[in-house]
Amino acid sequence: MTRSPIPYDPPVAEILRTARHVAGRAGATLPDELDDVLAEFGRLASNVIAPSDVAGDVIGCRLERDGSVAVAPELVKAHRAVVDGGWIEAMQSLGQVTATALMELYASANMALSLNPMLSQSAIELLRAVGTAEQRERYLAPMETGAWSGTMLLTEPDAGSDVGALRSKAVPRDDGTWAISGTKIFITWGEHDIAANIVHLVLARTPGSPGGTRGISLFVVPKVLPDGTRNAVRCIGLERKLGIHGSPTCVMELDGAIGELVGPEHAGMRAMFTMMNPARLAVGLEGVAIAERSWQQARDFARQRHQGRRDGRSVPIAEHPDVRRMLTDLRATTRATRVLALAAAAHAQVAHQADDPDVRAAAGRRVDLLTPLAKAWPTDQGVRLASVAVQVHGGVGFVEDTGVAQRYRDARIAPIYEGTNGIHAIDLAQRKIIHDGGAELERMLADLWPDGRAGELPAALADAGSALDLGVAAVRRAASWLLDVASTADDVLAGASDLLELVATVVAGGLLVDLAAAELDDELVLDARFFATRRVATAAAALPAITAGVASLAAL
Ligand SMILES: Cc1cc2nc3c(=O)[nH]c(=O)nc-3n(C[C@H](O)[C@H](O)[C@H](O)COP(=O)(O)OP(=O)(O)OC[C@H]3O[C@@H](n4cnc5c(N)ncnc54)[C@H](O)[C@@H]3O)c2cc1C
Repeated sequence: MTRSPIPYDPPVAEILRTARHVAGRAGATLPDELDDVLAEFGRLASNVIAPSDVAGDVIGCRLERDGSVAVAPELVKAHRAVVDGGWIEAMQSLGQVTATALMELYASANMALSLNPMLSQSAIELLRAVGTAEQRERYLAPMETGAWSGTMLLTEPDAGSDVGALRSKAVPRDDGTWAISGTKIFITWGEHDIAANIVHLVLARTPGSPGGTRGISLFVVPKVLPDGTRNAVRCIGLERKLGIHGSPTCVMELDGAIGELVGPEHAGMRAMFTMMNPARLAVGLEGVAIAERSWQQARDFARQRHQGRRDGRSVPIAEHPDVRRMLTDLRATTRATRVLALAAAAHAQVAHQADDPDVRAAAGRRVDLLTPLAKAWPTDQGVRLASVAVQVHGGVGFVEDTGVAQRYRDARIAPIYEGTNGIHAIDLAQRKIIHDGGAELERMLADLWPDGRAGELPAALADAGSALDLGVAAVRRAASWLLDVASTADDVLAGASDLLELVATVVAGGLLVDLAAAELDDELVLDARFFATRRVATAAAALPAITAGVASLAAL
């Protein structure tokens, strides 16, 4: 391995002030020890986790003849430090906002490794919500400490976005358990050597089930059975892929593997959504994490690379206006993705923890609306910003040694897994806007940007306020077109990704301007103005694309 680890400077103060602001707005309570918790985990992320990142990328994973999978030793050591420090438990117990803040630090330091606890955490939430008392008793304690990890096994060769096409079968056994057979592909951390047991949550069909998603049931299938024997679920292949090389992406074969039903038969998709919704927010956060790393690397490079002269002296490229544009885009858009991710987490926390059931239900509706936005938009921005960071580096950005190329490669998966961003755009248009007649969208806009909000902003944010006025008006016009004018479902779907881009940019922009108005920090105000006047104002011009309809697209 010739590449050196890239330093990571955890943005603890920035995360703290953003988390406090959005938690205050949503009514979420933060733990008293939040500062210390983030500072301590930031040190671990910087000193132990981040140095393992290059090793994971260069060494990758190895499938042994016996079906075991070895990951880079540096990853084993970093994971051990996280588990031994009690951090996996901390992510469970301190609420969604704190967990989100910790996971940003983790994923920035090593995205491939962070997928392991991320999926485990989602599996824990699922078992807590729908597992039987016995299942919770058996699995939760070792998973909550990180001694065991969790996975989700949905995808099959002919069932990707169309999960309802899956063919894996579950046949009842005499003792009440099930024998599950089938092949699952692309399974993240499906097999590895960093935990003593792996708890697979598997979707399969029981005999005589109806077709499509209605006939799918959910099973818990441990790698090691309660009696200590090895279950018939094994890794038969590892994918060679563009990025996240440290994360084993496994082809898993189940050959009569013993599993237990989780939740009622045929209710597997509903149960799986308990796992997928937090996982979607967590994948969105990977966009934030990549954006932050890309910003840091581009900034550090631009400060030391000299090219050209200004006023007769040799200058670092960070002084050229066009490079300053790229750097401001990186910093400002990273902040916009973070405030959106943390706001979604704050509403998710209220939906879990509020005493009043009406408050919980209202927060739940807000999270449902925010989920496609907070999954798709930050992950698209992660790819775009990693590309901007490569551009700041010039030719050496295209060479692996600087490490910024890894950001670009790693970033590319996040818009694909946990539902492609195209599928989230459809979800936003159909299930989150049309389904309730645009009611929750209107409530969110009224909270985010009440009438007259621009006029109340400090003078320094006046142009940002005008851009937000334009953006919010564009979202309302787009929603009216969806609800009242669009003549076919295909016309709506043809512009759904443009719609998501518009709504997410406006929501993230509104949150960022609100944060800047509260903090009145010069740097934050500059970033909020940059984001609002460039990104929100441009997004507001997307209406013709959103309303162009399916006839505007090539038929191939
Ligand atoms: C590295 C990696 C890790 C993964 N980890 C896991 C895991 O842990 N567990 C797991 O179960 N799966 C996992 N996956 C699978 C992942 O979730 C799927 O790849 C993803 O859902 C897309 O499915 P697909 O690859 O079959 O693409 P397809 O569904 O074939 O989609 C191809 C394209 O068509 C579009 N498309 C498909 N259907 C529609 C539609 N109805 N309307 C509009 N557009 C559509 C998609 O948006 C996409 O652009 C992983 C994948 C990768 C690459």
